[in-house]
Amino acid sequence: MTTPYTEVRTRFAPSPSGFLHVGGARTALFNYLYAKAKKGKFLLRVEDTDQDRSTEASFKIILESLKWLGMEWDEGPGVGGPHGPYTQSERLHIYKEYTAKLISEKKAYRCFCSSEELEGKKKQAESMGIPYLYDGKCSGLSESEINEQINKGTPFTVRFKTPNKLVVVDDMIQGKVKFESKLIGDFIIVKSDGFPSYNYAVVIDDALMKITHVIRGVGHLSNTPRQILIFEAFGFPLPRFAHASEIVGTDGKKLSKRAGATSVLAFRDLGYLSETLRNYMALLGWTSPDGKEYMPDEELCSIFDIERCSKSPATFDVFKKLKEEEKETVDFNKLDAIGLSEYLNQKSKLNWMSNKLIREVPIERLGQEMVPFLVNSNIPAEYKSGTHPTLLSILDSVRVYLDRLIQAPPYIEEFFQEDIQFENEEAKNLILEGNGKKVAKEFYDSITAAAPNNPDDYKNLMASVGEKTGEKGRTLFMPIRSITTGKSHGLELPILFTLLGQEKLKKRMEILGKIVGLAP
Ligand code: GLU
Repeated sequence: MTTPYTEVRTRFAPSPSGFLHVGGARTALFNYLYAKAKKGKFLLRVEDTDQDRSTEASFKIILESLKWLGMEWDEGPGVGGPHGPYTQSERLHIYKEYTAKLISEKKAYRCFCSSEELEGKKKQAESMGIPYLYDGKCSGLSESEINEQINKGTPFTVRFKTPNKLVVVDDMIQGKVKFESKLIGDFIIVKSDGFPSYNYAVVIDDALMKITHVIRGVGHLSNTPRQILIFEAFGFPLPRFAHASEIVGTDGKKLSKRAGATSVLAFRDLGYLSETLRNYMALLGWTSPDGKEYMPDEELCSIFDIERCSKSPATFDVFKKLKEEEKETVDFNKLDAIGLSEYLNQKSKLNWMSNKLIREVPIERLGQEMVPFLVNSNIPAEYKSGTHPTLLSILDSVRVYLDRLIQAPPYIEEFFQEDIQFENEEAKNLILEGNGKKVAKEFYDSITAAAPNNPDDYKNLMASVGEKTGEKGRTLFMPIRSITTGKSHGLELPILFTLLGQEKLKKRMEILGKIVGLAP
């Protein structure tokens, strides 16, 4: 029997035993996007029945991560809803009631075997090279034997009496996958501490919370036959299952212990905008109908579909570095910022997407997003709130260079820097060699004579310096860059000069000019 519900209801069901990493966040995202695309509901359920591993700190981090990612849940902790509580440790009375029902219908039984006894049988099976299955010893206990054990206070678990049948998981992503239940055996549904096992609680909750689509990582596919058997034992309608592909690193190996195994909050702390990470994660196992990759949020929320999810592993390559030999084949001096970010696109999709969005969002939003990165920066306090018009215009001119907001402070600090120096000998030599001094002096004189105040004015001034000195290209621009910034690389000069203003610019040139023996 499949689900009779009309509204799509999905859920993300994390166990609070660590932070939310990319794999978990991708699962949450697929559930969230599917619910949005189908105008349904997205639920959050906390699966904290593993008392040894669940922590309050992890619970808080997971909630904070989901909120940062903009995946607000329609029902769940903090929001409530008609099928709560949404934390499993608060639902023990519900599981108990259902267990009593299963036991009375002889679909489950108490198992009094001690852990030592079971361990011994497991070892024996191992030594014979056969898979261990519970032998069903307690399934045939009589009523009086059971009562005797209970009265003695013998600890017990509750086992599901697995019927012998072929279970077919009709998965929306993986297709039809068959499992022989006799290879499963009678498994534990209630542990000796009275807490339900994952495979048991998850079914009762999914059924009572009227979940229509269970979307999760492919690692859970092998749990699904157990869950289907329990759905059937209770006569609950089956939800649709969709097991999303594995995520691997560029080396094809599992993501655990790699960059993607870090908390998604690490991406926030590096200054990726949350929509960027969502957009990137959506493509880990899903493709848009027209193959488009960069998508605004609203589009993603309307076109996502499980039908377009693939079972092949998805590669998570965000931290792939430029290899030395790749650097040699590209003349980075000839690439402007957009060219550079397009180049990086081939290297890291995440950074390409990130730069694109940073360039597009309203500048006021970017100012706000910059606040945590400005706190410890070397700029005057009045600019740190992220709203100052000067700060916003600086940010507006540097955003083209950014893949992550954490890269912005050095650029911004440059505008406020008073004690300017040459970064290195190479920068200084740009003036000392060839016609450098002449170019520098001519530029100083021409900005003193004119009153430039916009990028075009500065462009024209530099062109006239070129005409007067007979220099063009590198031998014209590099000495000007060096005498005004002390560096051999950086922002586009006309924009930088406009933001600095004529006075500051002259002061910088006087300080650096002295060092290279130029009289003001
Ligand atoms: N608590 C399980 C986990 O974190 C949930 C699996 C599921 O979605 O059913 O892996």
